[in-house]
Amino acid sequence: MFRRTDTRSIHVGKVSVGGGAPVSVQSMCSTPTADTKATLDQIRKLAAAGCDITRVAVPDMEAAESLADLVKGSPIPFVADIHFDWRLAIASIKAGVAAVRINPGNIGSSENVRKVAEAAGEAGIPIRVGANSGSLPKGLYASFLEKGLPPGEAMAEALAEAALSEAEQLERFGFRDIAVSLKSSSPASAFAAAVKFAEKSDIPQHIGVTEAGTPARGIIKSSVGLGAMLLSGIGDTLRISLTADPVREVETGIAILEAAGLREASPEIVSCPTCGRTKVNLEAMAERVNTLVSSIKASGKKIAMKKIVMGCVVNGPGEASDADLGMAGGDGKFVIFRKGEILVTLPEEKAFAFLKEAIEKAAR
Ligand code: SF4
Repeated sequence: MFRRTDTRSIHVGKVSVGGGAPVSVQSMCSTPTADTKATLDQIRKLAAAGCDITRVAVPDMEAAESLADLVKGSPIPFVADIHFDWRLAIASIKAGVAAVRINPGNIGSSENVRKVAEAAGEAGIPIRVGANSGSLPKGLYASFLEKGLPPGEAMAEALAEAALSEAEQLERFGFRDIAVSLKSSSPASAFAAAVKFAEKSDIPQHIGVTEAGTPARGIIKSSVGLGAMLLSGIGDTLRISLTADPVREVETGIAILEAAGLREASPEIVSCPTCGRTKVNLEAMAERVNTLVSSIKASGKKIAMKKIVMGCVVNGPGEASDADLGMAGGDGKFVIFRKGEILVTLPEEKAFAFLKEAIEKAAR
């Protein structure tokens, strides 16, 4: 629907990132990486929820030693997340991970960065680097404030410059398979930084609002920040950071992509906000239909329906004439219709059973 920013293409295992590829959804395992059984169980759950790429923390050699087994058992590519010790990055690359995420600022000398870049180059895998508002190079943010920029803009400039300089550290060694992230827990700064970076570089962006919090606030912050980026054509892969089960991150990422028109929301479920005319328990019915559709989609099936509409006679068969299934509630009963044609009128429980059967029939 919108023009996307041109970025170079990289490959994280079988998943293309950048260069016009669909925006992929990432998450990060919360299990101890050395516990291969628990980690593989979680990766499988993430994959079943629609996760394209996941990431695992590699804090020590014990974790690095479990990576080869994870590579063998994982249904989706995963990224090794390394801080402080370049040797962990080399061990991860040798284990066959699909990408590594490093922070050149804490990995030691430029010589260490070169060794990691060389190993990744030989293995043909990308490296993700990035800047975080909490750990910017000393004085960088202040230098933009001193130029008279307001704080949000100064932070955006500082994040973009820090990310560019990290990427340059790799490019200096001839390494170009890079993704960057510009992380801020402020949606506005994250968005402004993403725009600034996109103006200056064709490196694909891993977008997100970092440390967004628990789902109640985190989903809203992420939707605001990522919505602005995606609707501006920016973002090649995303992660929603939530203090919650990582499966929630994947579900939220997919929902944001659907809302931004970047993934088909088949079927789109439209339900009204209810009002004084509502004479059925529409909230419960909408929840049940949503849960049913999500569980069918999570099982890997597609539902051959474009739109399901729930409301009352006001948006009944006439207004929702393009709905594959519609429910107009009134006086404890639902009129069920398809493409404007009334099929049947049923009490609530039977109406759900009717809908369930029709949706399951359309699933394949
Ligand atoms: Fe009210 Fe009907 Fe509109 Fe729902 S669709 S808000 S019940 S008028």
